[in-house]
Amino acid sequence: MIRIDGNIAKLREAVRCLRKGSGSIGLVPTMGYLHEGHLSLVRKSISENGSTVVTIFVNPLQFGPNEDYEAYPRDLEKDCLLLEKEGVDIVFCPKPEDLYYPDHSTYVVEERVSRDLCGASRPGHFRGVCTIVLKLFLLIGPDRAYFGEKDFQQLQVIRRMVRDLNVPVEIRGCPIVREKDGLALSSRNVYLSPSERLSAVALSRSLKAAKELYDSGEKNAGKIIGCVQEELLSDPALRVEYIELRDAEELSVLETVDKPAVLALAVRVGKTRLIDNVKLGEVEA
Ligand code: AMP
Repeated sequence: MIRIDGNIAKLREAVRCLRKGSGSIGLVPTMGYLHEGHLSLVRKSISENGSTVVTIFVNPLQFGPNEDYEAYPRDLEKDCLLLEKEGVDIVFCPKPEDLYYPDHSTYVVEERVSRDLCGASRPGHFRGVCTIVLKLFLLIGPDRAYFGEKDFQQLQVIRRMVRDLNVPVEIRGCPIVREKDGLALSSRNVYLSPSERLSAVALSRSLKAAKELYDSGEKNAGKIIGCVQEELLSDPALRVEYIELRDAEELSVLETVDKPAVLALAVRVGKTRLIDNVKLGEVEA
């Protein structure tokens, strides 16, 4: 595995060599502090491509001024060991100054899919995500790029950006990897105290109950959301930011679940903001 700590010329050269050697290139963009969720994306990329590039970059542009950019967990050495073991070809781990000029003034803004849900509670977040992801696409030129359904809105925003800007890359969505008790794996789970960790199980439990209600025939969005609300409001340690049932592609509001949909939520557990979701009906991966 070649590790490139930020030199863009070196990255371009290493990617050029990969392209000559072994067919298609898969890209897995991450913010590091890797867990089995990230590794599931890496494994899928390795199985579908001649070579795989992973990026590790905590992107300051997608964090708000009062968010956890500084505190975000980092362990670059351990991450690189994990990626080497998986058989990754290149890991690119730049610092902000490697990617952003001090007077950087160009951004990528998606204006529909990114508007609500996390876009509403984190102004500028998806602008930061789209800008860095397009930069990585331009730097690496992957044939396929892998994103987790854990960040369902992010996945759909990126699909839209790629469609609208004719970016020549295939976006591949990957299922959410969970702990045994259902909690979706997240680098931010490390912030949770033992009692918060116990409370956090309610997120996936409530989504599971709502999915069972849907599968048993309930198609009314209000009733399905109510089922989640009931479960989450019963624990005072949880502060609900949103619970939304949306069309799975555009993320527009649905009153009746008559097409593929996603039930998504964001909840604060103490100081930690967690997100989770479940698909209702068939949604393209
Ligand atoms: P992050 O490092 O949090 O930016 O995540 C990097 C990629 O891994 C994103 O595409 C995430 O959606 C994906 N990811 C994070 N957690 C999970 C998980 N539990 N299951 C599947 N994919 C995940």
